[in-house]
Amino acid sequence: MTQRGIATDLIHHPFRAPEGWDAVPVPVMKASTVLFSSTAELHAPRPRDGISYRYGLPGTPTTYTLAARIATLEHAEHCVLTPSGVSAVTLTSMALLQPGDEVLLPDNVYGQNRYVTTGLLSRLGITHRFYDPLDATAFAALLGERTRLVWLEAAGSITLEFPDLVGLLRACRARGVLTAIDDTWGGGIAFNPFEVAPALAPGLGADIAMHALTKFPSGGADLLMGAVCTRDAALNRRLVEMHEFLGYGLGQNDVEMVLRGLPSISLRYRAQDAATRVLARWMADRPEVARVLHPALADSPGHAYWRQVSPDAAGCLFSVVFKPAYDQRRVDAFVDALRCFGIGYSWAGPMSLVVPYDLSRSRSLGLPWTPEEGGSLVRFAIGLEEVEDLRADIEQALGALAG
Ligand SMILES: *Cc1c(COP(=O)(O)O)cnc(C)c1O
Repeated sequence: MTQRGIATDLIHHPFRAPEGWDAVPVPVMKASTVLFSSTAELHAPRPRDGISYRYGLPGTPTTYTLAARIATLEHAEHCVLTPSGVSAVTLTSMALLQPGDEVLLPDNVYGQNRYVTTGLLSRLGITHRFYDPLDATAFAALLGERTRLVWLEAAGSITLEFPDLVGLLRACRARGVLTAIDDTWGGGIAFNPFEVAPALAPGLGADIAMHALTKFPSGGADLLMGAVCTRDAALNRRLVEMHEFLGYGLGQNDVEMVLRGLPSISLRYRAQDAATRVLARWMADRPEVARVLHPALADSPGHAYWRQVSPDAAGCLFSVVFKPAYDQRRVDAFVDALRCFGIGYSWAGPMSLVVPYDLSRSRSLGLPWTPEEGGSLVRFAIGLEEVEDLRADIEQALGALAG
């Protein structure tokens, strides 16, 4: 053989590390190109079950390891990973809906799900209606001939109403309508999306659980990722097919980060949940406050449904509706005066966050309070700081609210 040049030798180097090495973290395996051992292997038929080592786009062993762990977290059998929570929403709706179909969304659905539905899906001839997640009877009457998919979210976004999951899922089962639950709030920890209330309704659950891994599974406020999980192999094939159409790929460094965050997810969830309850209860007693929305508070909408499904877990979010005497300018001054809270979207990371929300254009069926009762809303996401520091910070910032 003729002498090869250094560039060729460095690329086609013969050394292989000996096998038998093992460690706690999953190795980070990266690829666009996947190598075939021969043309015979290249010509072999492609598997359709989701695991495919033909190209880096569907995933590498690192991706499939995380997918298997997320399936376990969600009490599912199958999982496809996507580059964000929103892309997981889009994947689900695109995989299950055709032109002429109708999808139903809870009125408090995550804002980007509303946007994908009203913007993208309606362009494709897929219609939608919004339902009140607390009224399963009215919901059942909405299910029509063309209803193919129902989105569920527990608790709902921003206003945190806990839906009548048992009533809604029963109505869907009775009509044979597919259900997808956005399980980001529950994180796979609060309840089992595939059997939401085992004592009350054995076997009753959603067909699909979608999860923004950006939140609790990452826990770091440092990456974006999503997951779509199911127990049904045929549904999984439709999800895998749409995943391929959309060309969703993941960076393996991000996959590695989620694999690193995952072992501590239940500890973080419990710690953030406990701190959130302390602060939500404390806020509920403040004279400036009209309502605190948090499913574990007895007067929060859907509290009784929360007790049926998730009595031990209540997430890291609560929203405060200030009395109408405090206008937006004063509420913004309160937010600006907070020192231990960042102003910013997302949640479940180490830093506590706040966002003032104007819900006037993101609800079709109204709000759980009247303008006489309450005015501006601020959503709190509690992180991992000392709870007493957070409470003292809110207390000092309430001085700025009064002006
Ligand atoms: C954050 C979030 C999403 C979207 O996740 P991204 O990764 O930010 O795209 C979807 N649903 C819920 C309930 C969320 O909180």
